[in-house]
Order: sequence, then C-alpha cells, then structure tokens
Amino acid sequence: MTTNAQTATTGAEATPAPAAARDVKMIIGGEQVDALDGQTFEVLDPAHGHVIARVPLGGRVDVDRAVAAAQKAFEGPWSTWSAAKRGRTLQKYADLVKRNQEELAQLESQNVGKPIKSARGEAFAVSLVFEYYAGAANKHFGETIPTSKAGFDFTLREPIGVCGLIVPWNFPMNMASWKLGPALAAGNTCVLKPASATPLTAIRLGELALEAGFPPGVVNVITGPGGSAGAALAAHPGVGKIAFTGETTTGQEIMRLASGTVKNVSLELGGKSPNIVFADADLERMAAESPYAVFDNAGQDCCARSRILVERSVHERVVELFAEATRKVVVGDPLDEKTQVGSLVSQKQRERVLDYIRVGREEGADLVEGGRPPEGHGYESGAYLLPTIFDHCRADMRIAREEIFGPVVAIIPFDSEDEAVRLANSTPYGLSGSIWTRDVGRAIRVAKGVKSGTLSINSNASVHTEAPFGGYKMSGVGRELGMHALDLYTETKNVFLDLT
Ligand code: NDP
Repeated sequence: MTTNAQTATTGAEATPAPAAARDVKMIIGGEQVDALDGQTFEVLDPAHGHVIARVPLGGRVDVDRAVAAAQKAFEGPWSTWSAAKRGRTLQKYADLVKRNQEELAQLESQNVGKPIKSARGEAFAVSLVFEYYAGAANKHFGETIPTSKAGFDFTLREPIGVCGLIVPWNFPMNMASWKLGPALAAGNTCVLKPASATPLTAIRLGELALEAGFPPGVVNVITGPGGSAGAALAAHPGVGKIAFTGETTTGQEIMRLASGTVKNVSLELGGKSPNIVFADADLERMAAESPYAVFDNAGQDCCARSRILVERSVHERVVELFAEATRKVVVGDPLDEKTQVGSLVSQKQRERVLDYIRVGREEGADLVEGGRPPEGHGYESGAYLLPTIFDHCRADMRIAREEIFGPVVAIIPFDSEDEAVRLANSTPYGLSGSIWTRDVGRAIRVAKGVKSGTLSINSNASVHTEAPFGGYKMSGVGRELGMHALDLYTETKNVFLDLT
C-alpha cells in the first residue's frame, strides 16, 4: 500500500498480519525486570493498529530502584575506568548498533510508523553518534589558568553522576543516543526513560549497552508514564542531571521538578522553523528538496521547516513548484521500501493535526494540498495523513505560530529582507531554519538576524553529529551533539595550588 499525495492507490497486500505481541522488560542494574507491582501496558504499531508488545508500567518505586542501581554503578568499578576505556566500550557499542541495524530499524519503523528506509538511516546515525563519543571520551579535558594570585590553577572536567534521560516518540533511538553518547563518554551513569508510545528501541539499546561491556547499572532503562515515572525521575534527589527532548510545556514542568534539588537541566523543545526563500535563490532546487524538510517523519520533527517565508515576487512560482514536488511524495505502508512518509505515531496525534488543519481553514488560509487522510484500502487502519500545504498565511495565525507536529506547512509572503527576519523571529521558538539565496552577504546578514540555534544556507540539513544542536528562546536550553554536548554532562572543578 503506497500512494503519492495526489492519487491514492489500493494495495493492502503490503499490510503485515499481526504477529504475537512480545513481552519486553525494563533494564535495571544489568537485569531484565518487570515493574515491581507487575503492571504492564500495550505498545501499538500505529500504521496497522496492532498491539506489538507489552511493556512494564514502571512507577516511582521502579524509578527509585533504577536510580539506586545507577548510583551504585557510579561509585563502583566504572568510576575507575580511564576515559580511553570508556571510549573503547563506546566503540564496541557503536559496532553492535551497526551489527543490529536492521533489527533496530524494523522495531523503530513498526513502533513509530516511520518508513523503513528512514529508520535504517536513523539506526546508522545512532552508531555514528556512539562512534563520535568513543573518540571524544579522552579529548575533553581541563585547562591551566594564569591567575593573578601567585600559584598554579587548573580545572578538572568531572562526571555529574546519575543522569536522567527523558526522550520523545518522534526519533526515539536517535534522541536516546544523543544523550547516552556524551553522558557515557564523560563517565556518568544513566536512567533512560523512553516515551510510552515508543519504548522498544530504547530497551534494545539498553540490552546492547550490557553486551558492549558497560558494567551493570551504568545504563538503566525504565518504562512508564511521563506524569509518574518521568516526573519521579526529574524530581529524584539521587539524579544530578536531567536531559529532556519533547514538548515545551513538558520541558517547563521538568525544569520545575528539577528545581527542588537544583539539578543540571538541558532541554531540546519545540520548533516552528522557517524556510526563507529569496527571489534570487535556486528555486527549483529549493522546491525539490524542501518537501522532505517538512514532511519527513510525517512532520513529527522539531526541526521541520513548517513555515515557508517567500519573497513576494516569486511567491506564486514557489508555491507551484513546491506543490508539484509535494504531490510526488510517496505516502504509504512504513515497511514498503518505496514509502517516504508513513503513519503518524498515533490516532491521537493525527486528531491533533487534523484539528490544526480545521483551525487553518477557519483562520482563512488557503488549502493548496492535502488536508485529509489518504483514501484507499489499507489506509483505514493507520494514522495516515496527506502532506498539507496552506498558502497566504499570516504570522498571527495559529498554524503559523504553533508547533503542529504533523505534515503541515504554512506559506507566508514577504517584501523585504528586514521583514523576512522579523517574520522568522515572530514565534516563541528558535530551533532551526533554512535560508535560500545566491547573495552571500544577505545569507550571512539573515543568518545573524534569525534567533535560532541551528541554521543552514541553501540546504535543509539541521543535524550534524559533530556540530552543536539546540534552541534559542522556548526551543530549549543547552547544545547537544559535537564536543559542546560534553559540557552538559560534566561539572567543571577549579583547583588552585598556592606556590608561595
Ligand atoms: P511530551 O513532551 O509529553 O513527551 C516527551 C517525553 O516526556 C516522554 O518520554 C514522556 O513520557 C515524558 N513526560 C511527559 N510528561 C512528563 C512529566 N511531567 N515529567 C517527566 N517526563 C514527562 O510529548 P508528548 O508525547 O505528550 O507529545 C505532545 C506534543 O509534544 C506533540 O504533539 C508534539 O507537538 C510535541 N512534541 C515535540 C517534540 C519535539 O522534539 N519538539 C517531541 C515529542 C512531542 P510519556 O510518553 O510516558 O508521556
């Protein structure tokens, strides 16, 4: 079952028969365990509506167990490991992820509803992140400082302790790797809590960490509701740092919960990233590449270029080219190799996005493409939605300001460079964005003017393993990836020796 956005075709033959749901365990102190009270919850394949796994419904007491195991591991032999040994073990972890790439990709595709080809790329990206931090482990060090008082002053970079890692459902294994990689390289221990909708690859990563040789308790994985298990982790006095990716309001709640023991907090939150197109740009290239920048992962991407700001003189041309490219996007069964956009993560998420589409119509935006689920046999059981384009939007419309987290783009024309920058900065977010122009001076001026943590010029790339990633304003606190991420997982200790 695949279709392009214009012509839905039938073909439910690609729909797999439901396999028996697997029973999966949490990982605490190197053991595979159930929740203490034995409760479980069901995990779905959103493209077909099947239950694919039963997972422990962990609660506060399970969080206590996991944090205790991580504290014990932090004080155990792990604390004597050299940075080089941590790096070598991370390299083994990277190799194991590569060896298990297909299994991880199948799990992620089935659980999130994302195309198998994308999931393979994401599994490979996890291995690259671990590989990067394998090399980085012994390259993050302190400094000597010429103080005015006579003496010898130096800094040490020390691990924080137990890190609580709370990750979302849109890129479950990638978000886990962005946190596990630097946390382990720096010598911390971890309690990872995946989103309840998508816990399967996180659990598998926990198993592979043990296989790689990390001591028991260094990587723990707990499953359970954000409101209880997640909140308990964020507030736990035994946790020294919380790293979170997810919705902005959840991030605000996590900050509040972490404030009780003044934890280190890093947050990667929502976005409403602009794709800024000037009249002198390579419009054909921009239009051909940009559908993927917003509709990839069914738009459930914090970096999604969900606003196109386009210079008025080429507005109509860009809408025409972009719509034409969008109609070629193949929406279909996640496990079909041809599929480019799969199912949304849940029926609930699709309802939320459909609600925004209704709001967009009521606000007076012009619906150019999509706006509804695809029709045809095989689509009715999944949370599918066609890529949707709204034109003639205004900056004050909700569809142009709020994070929809679905395959919806809002197009807004502008008349000047200043107006483009003002529009780009007109949301509470500042995560990512693209600038399309052949004028180098303008590209740099606009890049300096846009308040965003990540920008690309004549490109839609947001994420590079080696470069910092994170947000301005309500898009977050701290920078993940690259060497910058190691700052989030270390304390800096200053030591002064009086030489007199
Ligand atoms: P959340 O931000 O609620 O969930 C992200 C993670 O936080 C999950 O592991 C969740 O657990 C956990 N969590 C939830 N509440 C708490 C809490 N009080 N304390 C600690 N942890 C908590 O996102 P949702 O899954 O609810 O999605 C809602 C919306 O958020 C989406 O529609 C989308 O717009 C946006 N979103 C944005 C993301 C981004 O990267 N910018 C990523 C994901 C969602 P559990 O799953 O068990 O609730």
